[in-house]
Amino acid sequence: MAARMDLDGRPIKPMTICMIGAGGFIGSHLCEKLMAETPHKVLALDVYNDKIKHLLEPDSLPWAGRIEFHRINIKHDSRLEGLIKMADLTINLAAICTPADYNTRPLDTIYSNFIDALPVVKYCSENNKRLIHFSTCEVYGKTIGSFLPKDSPLRKDPAYYVLKEDTSPCIFGSIEKQRWSYACAKQLIERLIYAEGAENGLDFTIVRPFNWIGPRMDFIPGIDGPSEGVPRVLACFSNNLLRREPLKLVDGGQSQRTFVYIKDAIEAVLLMIENPDRANGHIFNVGNPNNEVTVRQLAEMMTQVYTRVSGEPMLQSPSIDVSSKEFYGEGYDDSDKRILDMTIINKQLGWNPKTSLWDLLESTLTYQHRTYAEAIKKSMAKPTAS
Ligand code: NAD
Ligand code: UDP
Repeated sequence: MAARMDLDGRPIKPMTICMIGAGGFIGSHLCEKLMAETPHKVLALDVYNDKIKHLLEPDSLPWAGRIEFHRINIKHDSRLEGLIKMADLTINLAAICTPADYNTRPLDTIYSNFIDALPVVKYCSENNKRLIHFSTCEVYGKTIGSFLPKDSPLRKDPAYYVLKEDTSPCIFGSIEKQRWSYACAKQLIERLIYAEGAENGLDFTIVRPFNWIGPRMDFIPGIDGPSEGVPRVLACFSNNLLRREPLKLVDGGQSQRTFVYIKDAIEAVLLMIENPDRANGHIFNVGNPNNEVTVRQLAEMMTQVYTRVSGEPMLQSPSIDVSSKEFYGEGYDDSDKRILDMTIINKQLGWNPKTSLWDLLESTLTYQHRTYAEAIKKSMAKPTAS
């Protein structure tokens, strides 16, 4: 492999990366990219490895020897510090990060996103190791504009909704709205990492993903995850489409999101990995501000794309409204809008996303159809036990 150059024209030295949560959605794509395009070595830590099995087996793969899986639960495993010490860089992706858990399992959510991340930060700081920590766009909470009267013209002014790393406030709902347990835990771990940087010189980068989506995200209930499980919206809607059920729009599907293709977002992470001088000490929004839709529009688009991909006719009523209380239970609340400012990532890393929402849905739903359609048909044909 020819020597890779960083953004300043210097050759990149091969490094060892301790990736925690490597078996998840983002981790699997990052491992794939690192194996296919770089000489770096990955110590992949997770409790599951189903999503990276194709990278681990067979032994004849060209990158065999550069990726090692360690089945570790970071809550209680004394091997963690040793693995962090062996690496040049630690990337922490481990988290409970599905909204259905935030209000129904708030303790697990807070422990996972704050308490369990503490030793990782501590070991990196004590051993002078670089850390890339995955936070979330949800630390911004609600936009300032959402508190203005519905008909206020200021709602259209970007100053009231664009989310910027170093100036926007973090606005969460009340404590009874347990939805915010995740955002609050992520915010506190960000503050701790920032303080370790300021007081103890920790070299850190914080990533705030804005709805990264693509193949291998979450699970399809009853196929490769629990039947009663509620994944994030891409997998919920994929499941509905595969089963030919109407897509459920929570509280009318009025919330707005910007979706970025996982493969675009992974490019940004690779730039952070390979350009420490430009990434250290920064918090980066990573998303695609051009791909904004309401959840209702997302449902319509996914229905159209899936109809093309599967060749199956559209349902007469492709979506239904459900209340958030019915869908998520007590204590749910929502982020209204997520438009990211990209000044910092543009300036530091020159990164921009490329893929349109239509194109990313087309490739993702093609994958979903190919991966799950047969299994769904079989499971639906089985008589259910009475
Ligand atoms: P994911 O659930 O697919 O991946 C998380 C992985 O961490 C899972 O494989 C899980 O098994 C592992 N994990 C959790 N607890 C662990 C523990 N105690 N020990 C070992 N492994 C553990 O989620 P993802 O979408 O890949 O997200 C990765 C990170 O990015 C998370 O920190 C999440 O909060 C953040 N994030 C992602 C998005 C997105 O758009 N996908 C948005 C905002 C934030
Ligand atoms: N949502 C929905 N129907 C579903 C699943 C989710 O209307 O079947 C909505 C949810 O209320 C939220 C948006 O879709 O407004 C995005 O949800 P997701 O779970 O992807 O996570 P979030 O972006 O809120 O972190």
